[in-house]
Amino acid sequence: MSALSPSAPFTFEPNANPVPEAERMARLKDPGFGKTFTDHMVIVRYSEGKGWHDAKVTARGPISLDPAAAVLHYAQEIFEGLKAYRLSDGAMALFRPQANARRFNASANRMAMPELPEDMFIESCRALVKADADWFPDIDGGSIYLRPFMIANETFLGVKPSGDYLYIVIAAATGNYFKSGAPAVKLLVAEDDTRAAPGGTGAAKCGGNYAASLRAQSQAIARGFDQVVFLDAAERRYVEELGGMNLFFVFDDGSLQTPPLDGTILPGITRDSLLTLAREEGLAVREERYAIDQWRADAQSGRLVETFACGTAAVVTPVASVTGKDFSFTIGSGGPGQATQRLKQRLVDIQRGTAADIHGWVMRLD
Ligand SMILES: *Cc1c(COP(=O)(O)O)cnc(C)c1O
Repeated sequence: MSALSPSAPFTFEPNANPVPEAERMARLKDPGFGKTFTDHMVIVRYSEGKGWHDAKVTARGPISLDPAAAVLHYAQEIFEGLKAYRLSDGAMALFRPQANARRFNASANRMAMPELPEDMFIESCRALVKADADWFPDIDGGSIYLRPFMIANETFLGVKPSGDYLYIVIAAATGNYFKSGAPAVKLLVAEDDTRAAPGGTGAAKCGGNYAASLRAQSQAIARGFDQVVFLDAAERRYVEELGGMNLFFVFDDGSLQTPPLDGTILPGITRDSLLTLAREEGLAVREERYAIDQWRADAQSGRLVETFACGTAAVVTPVASVTGKDFSFTIGSGGPGQATQRLKQRLVDIQRGTAADIHGWVMRLD
């Protein structure tokens, strides 16, 4: 158990029965992703009139909800995902948590939920990481993945924005998302299902978007693919993103392209960071729509040399091949390309504190 007590305004109720040290050490040898949970969680309550209150770090455990809690019926739920790292000098740090705080509020706004003060979001992450500092896996690429989320908690079946909410943060020790580095993934183009429509919730990080993506994703897995790639809902023509990762295309002239943020794509913080790094390198970068037919033609002509997906969990993942209803094409050599590897390494070096952080992206927690 860490002796550090998290900073105000969070009350700290230490877990009286933390996972015993030997057991924790055993679990941390191979934590996997999203299953090796820490000893604590953050809970903050919201009610209309009173605002946010009762902020605490407490023992992690089940929460009790009334069966009429609004989230269970109308899916008013949003979440975030960010990692706490140990820097090369041993200090604990978060990567761009202000960006997560802002995006959380943008999602809240779309889902008619109350905003959470940005300081409270960041402080909640800091308090939890400090309480669970013993849970950093001592393995290459190890981190603590934080999952802040908000659910509608009013006991009422009428259709309206809830009056009560719970904001919770849980944490999981995490190894490398892909154990053997990042193998190139095989994509299947979603034929029947779309993820997000114009005017819909595609730009909000809400559970409902994931629920809508699961059928296509499991069909892809059943057919031997790794991930599904979604096309735009209006024309079924433009490449949007994967279920939980943004896409980048790399061309033979060294230029980079990624779909624009026009409401149906989740504004990834990894996406934004890579755009910044690529522009700094002097690469030509376009945020423009890319048609599936063009992707195929460019891959076949050799004009397109690499494609990669990006997101907090896996950072950067190369795409090996793309399969649709009546076609299939390989990208480059089918393995990780040079630009993909270089951009990934530059980002990871900044995150880990081994390269200069000129943008102030790394927030030290001590
Ligand atoms: C979270 C998420 C991403 C990646 O965002 P990051 O901030 O880079 O982790 C991409 N697409 C979807 C649908 C997401 O939910």
